[in-house]
Amino acid sequence: MALSFNPDTIDLPKGHFIGGRYIGAKGGLTMHRPSDAIAYAECPVADADLVDQAVSVAKTALRESGWSTRRPRERTNAMHRWADLIEAEGETLARLEAVSSTRPIAELMQGDVVITAEQIRFFAEFADKEGSELVPTDDLSLGMIMTEPYGIVGAITPWNFPLSMAGWKLGPALAAGNAIVLKPSEMTPYSTLYLAQLAVRAGIPAGLINVVLGDGQTTGQAMTGHPDIAKISFTGSTAAGSAIMANIARTGVKPMTLELGGKSPQIVFADADLTLAANAIANSILVNAGQACVAGSRVIVEKSVMEQLIAAITSRMAASRPGPTWDEASDYSPIISERQIVRIDAIVQAARQAGAECLAGGRCLKRDGYFYAPTLLSNVDQTSPAVIEEIFGPVLTVQSFTDEEEALALADHPTYGLAAGLFTRDLSRSIRMTHRLQAGTVWVNRYSRSRDHILPTGGYKRSGIGKDLGRDGYNANRKSKSVLINIQDQT
Ligand code: NAD
Repeated sequence: MALSFNPDTIDLPKGHFIGGRYIGAKGGLTMHRPSDAIAYAECPVADADLVDQAVSVAKTALRESGWSTRRPRERTNAMHRWADLIEAEGETLARLEAVSSTRPIAELMQGDVVITAEQIRFFAEFADKEGSELVPTDDLSLGMIMTEPYGIVGAITPWNFPLSMAGWKLGPALAAGNAIVLKPSEMTPYSTLYLAQLAVRAGIPAGLINVVLGDGQTTGQAMTGHPDIAKISFTGSTAAGSAIMANIARTGVKPMTLELGGKSPQIVFADADLTLAANAIANSILVNAGQACVAGSRVIVEKSVMEQLIAAITSRMAASRPGPTWDEASDYSPIISERQIVRIDAIVQAARQAGAECLAGGRCLKRDGYFYAPTLLSNVDQTSPAVIEEIFGPVLTVQSFTDEEEALALADHPTYGLAAGLFTRDLSRSIRMTHRLQAGTVWVNRYSRSRDHILPTGGYKRSGIGKDLGRDGYNANRKSKSVLINIQDQT
């Protein structure tokens, strides 16, 4: 199938998606295509009144549709129809995403689209399986933990994997019986808008999924402070997560799930399969040009194999194929914005000036758009900004160790704890190290998510609060009520 397309011919959804239709809006934030830097659209910004309108539509839809009170299997079935449509319309979804984002069209078709449909199906199956439970009490009582949907969930997603991130939020919230107001990133909103439209076409009642467009300051803040949004489910940077906590505290109290930033280490022992480790490490920083929360951006390698590992990683980096996201031959992404590519380069050049050795990349690529060469820096110390800051770009740092204690000390980040990778053939060591690594996910002899959606994801430290995916991701969309019934004979 020929996947390449002309980005100028794509019909972009216009406006917010509220109550099952697009609400047109003029003007807004100028959007540039990362692949060629061309200004091509404007993203409208929903103000507090429009957010309020979306919330009230969601409330009415929830009440009138009986979504949370009807037979749960009906929710499951509707969501399965939605997943079928996502696959059937995969090319449209992928093109809408490729236009505005950094995801290459081939990866979207083989990965993001398929995975999003799969995740919707995965969560659909919870609706009629996970629920209230009886708990042990004395014989004269019946104890129960009853679970219920929150009502309206406010979801806010980042720009980097728009479809998957929307799936992580919409799937469990809907299956659990909620209505949703979702704000995608102002930089990559189109696939999310179309995803919501497909839900209505699949028979999910209009108004249950509403997508409001806008930035964090205006639209995001109006959502997190809205009194009728009962729960916030956020994925984005630690700075924004912290601002959201502050706004929730200022305007009231509500539960939140925060999936935040990371600066994840990958530890390689001399006994590891070095080819496997080098491929996994290179992939983890090449996918989306390192613009992934779990990018394994800090390589920590046993001294005796450092040179060998670096050679294998740099040769894999050299084979990447940068190109526009709408060209099916491209497998290496642009950077999302000019601002971000300038920031990446500033961190890299500062590290070099401070003594880092640049063993690959370290420069913008001479192409249209915002492309940065896959970069590898060695001779960096633990306090270097290149080692401490989430760069969100294709930059690996390499540090060496001589024993487990030193590896763990280097791996431990002062604030982040999202994921960690471990490469060794020694089973006991892998378990020992896994126990001690301060990260919400540890991958051993691999470094990537699988399609086992049952595994939850979430961070330690300031990488987040709560989990997405898995059973935890579903339960995060329901609240629980403790019930105790006196069953003594009262005659
Ligand atoms: P960001 O924090 O700038 O924005 C994320 C979303 O939050 C956007 O929709 C934005 O408009 C909104 N927002 C920003 N400030 C807000 C505020 N004060 N109130 C309400 N909403 C606000 O992040 P980004 O640049 O879009 O994405 C990159 C970040 O996301 C990285 O830090 C990355 O690690 C993180 N991320 C984490 C995960 C995870 O699972 N932990 C997954 C993907 C991305």
